Amino acid sequence: MENKGKIGVTTENIFPVIKQFLYSDHEIFLRELVANAVDATQKMKALALSGDVKEELGDLKVRIELDESAKTLKVIDEGIGMTAEEVDKYINQIAFSSAGEFLEKYKDQIGNIIGHFGLGFYSAFMVSEKVTIESLSWQEGAKAVKWTCDGSPEYTMEDCDKADRGTVITLYLDKDSEEFAAKGRIQQLLNKYCKFMPVPIVFGKEQEWKDGKYVDTDRDNVINKLEPIWTKAPSGLKEEEYMEFYRALYPAEEEPMFHIHLNVDYPFNLTGVLYFPKIKERMAIDKHKIQLYCNQMFVTDHVDNIVPDFLTLLHGVIDSPDIPLNVSRSYLQSDANVKKISTYITKKVADRLEDIFKNERQALESKWDNLKLFIEYGMLTDEKFCERALKFALLKNTDGKYFSLDEYRTAIEPMQTDKDKKVVYLYATDVEAQYPFIEAAKSQGYDVLLMDCELDSHFVNLLEGKVENTRFARVDSDSITNLIPKEDRVKFEMKEDERYDLENMFKAVMPSENEYYVIGDNLGEDAAPILITQSEFMRRYREMSALGGGMNFYGEMPKSYNITVNMDNPLVARVLAEKKDEVAPQGELPPEAPKDASDAEKEAARQARDDVRHAHKSDVEAFARSNEMLHQITDLALLANGMLKGKALSDFIARSEKVVRDAFLK
Ligand code: ADP
Repeated sequence: MENKGKIGVTTENIFPVIKQFLYSDHEIFLRELVANAVDATQKMKALALSGDVKEELGDLKVRIELDESAKTLKVIDEGIGMTAEEVDKYINQIAFSSAGEFLEKYKDQIGNIIGHFGLGFYSAFMVSEKVTIESLSWQEGAKAVKWTCDGSPEYTMEDCDKADRGTVITLYLDKDSEEFAAKGRIQQLLNKYCKFMPVPIVFGKEQEWKDGKYVDTDRDNVINKLEPIWTKAPSGLKEEEYMEFYRALYPAEEEPMFHIHLNVDYPFNLTGVLYFPKIKERMAIDKHKIQLYCNQMFVTDHVDNIVPDFLTLLHGVIDSPDIPLNVSRSYLQSDANVKKISTYITKKVADRLEDIFKNERQALESKWDNLKLFIEYGMLTDEKFCERALKFALLKNTDGKYFSLDEYRTAIEPMQTDKDKKVVYLYATDVEAQYPFIEAAKSQGYDVLLMDCELDSHFVNLLEGKVENTRFARVDSDSITNLIPKEDRVKFEMKEDERYDLENMFKAVMPSENEYYVIGDNLGEDAAPILITQSEFMRRYREMSALGGGMNFYGEMPKSYNITVNMDNPLVARVLAEKKDEVAPQGELPPEAPKDASDAEKEAARQARDDVRHAHKSDVEAFARSNEMLHQITDLALLANGMLKGKALSDFIARSEKVVRDAFLK
């Protein structure tokens, strides 16, 4: 028999589709062919199980054979094979697929036959100039058939002398695809796509080191030796087995902290194991450590559109036949099953964390520092997860103690409620740098949280929104009396021109790259003379916009600080007294120009007034620069904030030494 024909779909519709694959993932052809071979093998096993086939099947394998010099690649199976009619029906008339019929008939026995991948077989033409199929069906009396096609819609079909049941697909690799005629490349593709397929996949022989080189042994090189742990029942698995599986999947990674076994069959089918890696920095995390499988066949490690973004920080395996493959990313996101799957995984992750919170609190605390970023990221980006996480998220204070959100509120409420009935959460971002402020807060009986994670400025905002009547304040954002104001204080009153003098005095001796707003306050005789703080609001916006990336308004502004001058402090009083002695008060301002004056006259009058102001300002600044005590107390405040650097620092040291000499050696 020889038979020529045209593939039952026109060139117009089939080859453009294949070409489309061409631009994306060339390499998937191998996955598709091996999947078909595995599928045919599974069907054969199902027939044996159902009693339709009596013979002993033995250990059915799928073999891949590469001839590097002839540039041919064969995929060989011992599955059900195809008759000439079947080749005609399933291959020539592509629109048909036997899987539907087959599943209908044997649906009870085969839960895991690899599903449809659209144009699976035809993807072979992405890399081949010619493809042949030689097949012998399992059915009694079947004749072997050979199908040949060179990529045009014409094919030939003829009898052949294939004696064993099953199918051999031979690819004659084309010029542009010679990369696939290399053993290393095929090995790599098989490792990537076929590592967990349910039928042994054999590629060549295992090798061993002998006489200074690698030589083939007589043992088959089986690609899928590692057992897919997620297909087993969680109850039968030990912790160590999960860890072993992790090590096999990610040999270069640190041990994970926890795992979650996913297992659901209604309303969609999903299995998998997810691991929580130790996460310290969000940016350092490779987001492609979750592998998506479809009935044990690798599909992708880009699950971005299948799970919420924060979950892509996890590692592990998800297997589901219910995720549509080879479809656009935007389509994936709108797919109903994908949405359900995403919700399910989020819920499972939250369940597991809540369970650890309730039953393994110690473990949660010890791992919290490596878990925190993941949870905060989840809370910030996923509303549902956030609602759940409010129950198990922990806060850590500067003494290293951990609290749940509820516990913490209860603990600080008595001491840290302000006059407006808001509970003020004090926090530090750097224990070393903010030490003096932390100590000051503690000495008042306050507790200070540690918020040193890269997402904390966003997280603090989130908590203020989620936890009622709460305000967060960094411990160095104001004087201790004003951080948690207990009753309405009478504000320190100062005339504007006095305040202006004070501001000019300090600006003259502070580092010039920042902006300052200077106010006087009564903080008590024993409190520090000067306090440099950064308003919570401004600092937080700066930090959040810096995190957001890109240039922006807040990020580009100079840092601005509040300088609180403690008018009760005797050193301040002394400086101000000296200023009064040494700097003449600002002279009388010349009158403003009358309304009907000419523009030139108005300008001259304004200039005259400015001259008087500037003259006074220069006097104030000259006084400030020459006043050692002022320098000393400002430098102390700068020092407390870690802001004293360079020449200012060495001047301070020299001056201090002098002060110490005067005090001790007198
Ligand atoms: P799909 O696998 O999605 O059905 P394919 O184009 O890959 O689409 O294959 C079409 C059909 O050809 C398969 O459903 C199957 O019936 C048949 N087929 C392909 N490869 C083999 C094989 N190795 N053994 C038996 N039948 C096969």
